[in-house]
Parts: sequence; structure tokens; C-alpha cells
Amino acid sequence: MSTVILVTGGSGLVGQAIKHVIENEPVGSRFGKKENETWIFASSSEGDLRDPAQTRKLFDKYKPTHVIHLAALVGGLFRNMKYKLTFFRENMVINDNVLHAAYETKAQKVISCLSTCVFPDKVEYPLDENKIHLGLPHDSNFGYAHSKRMVDIQNHAYKEEFGCNFTSAIPTNVFGPYDNYDLEDAHVIPALIHKCYLAKKNNTPFVVAGSGKPLRQFIYSRDLAKLFIWQLREYDDVEPVILSVGEDEEVSIKEVADAIVEAMDFKGNYTFDTSRADGQFRKPASNKKLLSLIGGFEFTPFKPALAESVKWFLDNYDTARTGIKKQ
Ligand code: NAP
Ligand code: GDP
Repeated sequence: MSTVILVTGGSGLVGQAIKHVIENEPVGSRFGKKENETWIFASSSEGDLRDPAQTRKLFDKYKPTHVIHLAALVGGLFRNMKYKLTFFRENMVINDNVLHAAYETKAQKVISCLSTCVFPDKVEYPLDENKIHLGLPHDSNFGYAHSKRMVDIQNHAYKEEFGCNFTSAIPTNVFGPYDNYDLEDAHVIPALIHKCYLAKKNNTPFVVAGSGKPLRQFIYSRDLAKLFIWQLREYDDVEPVILSVGEDEEVSIKEVADAIVEAMDFKGNYTFDTSRADGQFRKPASNKKLLSLIGGFEFTPFKPALAESVKWFLDNYDTARTGIKKQ
């Protein structure tokens, strides 16, 4: 039986990581391409998923048997704070179009990508898969968080009403090659890599937003890619799975900045702009469910993964998504 896997958001950070793993792991291995598989990595140029007709056209073109749904309006803390309604509306519409097209074209399985920001702000830590709907998400990204939470509701409703095999993955903060390096809109790691690069190049200060004290769990995009491939092939339940390093592996924003300074070999001073928001202080998530199901899994340690990501940015600066027009 041939399998066609459509990856929406295939041009982004996570989509490109899945492409890398599928193309580089040995054929037939746990995370490598199987002989009967065709992988499609769709970018927005193939169809704007905010539009139901374009979404349906994409599904009719490829007739996917399986979907990894990554496409979303995505951004770091500052972009989320600025565009709460836009984040809510666009992601609600994209998710609704993709899930409904998958249902109508009889896709056998869909994994949609959520995020740990779906969890309540005030809840007992660590976060786990049973706590998604126990309270309101953090105010800084409630538009994005609510739209992503609704996917879990949709998955359950599609299963109960139509028997669909739709599920979701909940990654923590992701980083790696092909990230979005926009200075204002990006997530913390790509934004700081770009800022440190400019500080080094222009001999200007490297300014980190906020106090540096908040904690995050970071997962390397190529590790996350393997976990998506595992979930696609080996997990069949509607309930989400948190895809993350251990809850004891939180890293402070200051430690992130220090690691970037080291990887960039930046010798200047750096400062914290405490007039800027810190966002949620922490959101530690448990990977117990994941580890109990997958068996052994080797996560790439944070520092080498960060060094690889910095190297990718330096090697690909001309084509990377920096938000800056380059000559
Ligand atoms: P990204 O690099 O910004 O990529 C976003 C992808 O979505 C791109 O391929 C983009 O296509 C596509 N897309 C956006 N709007 C679209 C539209 N209207 N129609 C069709 N495609 C559209 O984001 P990412 O970090 O890979 O995120 C992938 C998934 O992971 C998202 O669901 C995100 O919520 C989730 N996630 C990310 C993080 C993180 O730290 N990055 C953490 C947790 C969860 P084009 O580039 O071709 O326009
Ligand atoms: P979050 O995990 O959803 O809050 O997303 P981010 O990846 O945007 O991380 C936000 C944390 O990094 C906050 O504590 C920010 O204050 C801090 N931070 C420091 N500098 C930057 C920056 O340049 N961009 C972003 N997005 N966050 C930064």
C-alpha cells in the first residue's frame, strides 16, 4: 500500500527538519523514508490554507493518506502580544480548513502541531497531556494558544462524529536550521542569533529583551522531526503527546544568550533590556508519556544543537528569513 504524507508548513523550521531527517536517515530505518512512502513538503506558495478552496485543491492534487499539519501563523512573544486577534483568526481558519479537507478526502491520519503555550498559565507543574483545558493560557499569547487548543477539541469531535484518526503533538520551544530570524517577530533563539550577529558585525551592544530569568525547554528541530515521524507511524490515539526534552532540562534566557555569545565568538558586552516583557516565567512540560511509548530516544544536547543552528545561520545568511532586505 502506498502512503502519501503531506506536510503542511513544509518550508518552515519544523517542516524542513522533517525533510532533512527523511532524506538523511537510512532508507527503511525507524526515522528514514520507507520504500512505499511519498513525502510532500508544501509551502504557502502551493496554496494559502486560510482559503478553503485552495486547501481543498492541495488535498485533491496530492491525495494524502497521512498529514503532518504544521502550517500556522507563528511568532515569538512580541509578535504574539501585538497580533492576538490575527493569531486567533488565521490559525482557527487554517486548522479548520486542513482538518475538514482531510476528513472530506478521507485521509487516514492527521497529526496537528500544537505548542506548550496551549496549557493553562496557573496550573500545577509539570504540564502533562491531561491539563490542556484546566484554565486560561498566559495572557501574552492567548489568541494563538486558544486557536491551537481548539484543535484538540476538533480532533475529539471528528473522532466521535466521524471516526477520524486525528491527533496532535505538543512541542516545547523549537530551534534549528531554517528558522525565522526576524529581529522583532521571531522566537527567542533565532532573534538572539540574529541580534548577536549584528552586534558582532557592527561592533554594537548585544541587547537581550527582558530580565533573562524566564525558563524554557528547548527541543532541537531535527530531534522533533524524528518524534513526529515516530508519532506518524507508531502512535494511534486522539490524545496529544508532548514532544519534549525532560522537565529537568529547563534553560534560562540568560543561559541561551550566553550559549549564543559563545557559539558566535562574540567578545563585546551584552545587556538586558528590562523594560521589555518576560512573558510566561516558565512552562515545564513532562515527556513521561512520550518516553513510555517510544522506548529509548537520544536528544541532542542543547549546546551542540545550538552551535549547529548558529553555524547554519552564518552559512545561509543570504537566504535565511531575516526580515531584512539583502543586497
Ligand atoms: P515557521 O518556520 O514560521 O513555518 C511556518 C510554516 O507555515 C511555513 O511553511 C509557512 O509557509 C506555513 N504557512 C504559514 N501561513 C500559511 C498559510 N496561510 N497557508 C499555507 N502555509 C502557511 O514555523 P515553525 O516554527 O516551523 O512552526 C511549525 C509548527 O510548529 C506550527 O504549527 C507552530 O505553531 C508549531 N510550534 C512551533 C514552535 C517554535 O518554537 N517554533 C514551538 C511550538 C510549536 P511559507 O513560509 O511558505 O509562507
Ligand atoms: P515564548 O516561549 O512563547 O514566550 O516565546 P519566545 O521564544 O519569544 O521567548 C520569549 C522569552 O525570551 C521571553 O522571556 C523574552 O523576554 C525572551 N527574549 C529575550 N530576547 C528576545 C528576543 O529578541 N525575541 C524574543 N521573542 N524573545 C526574547
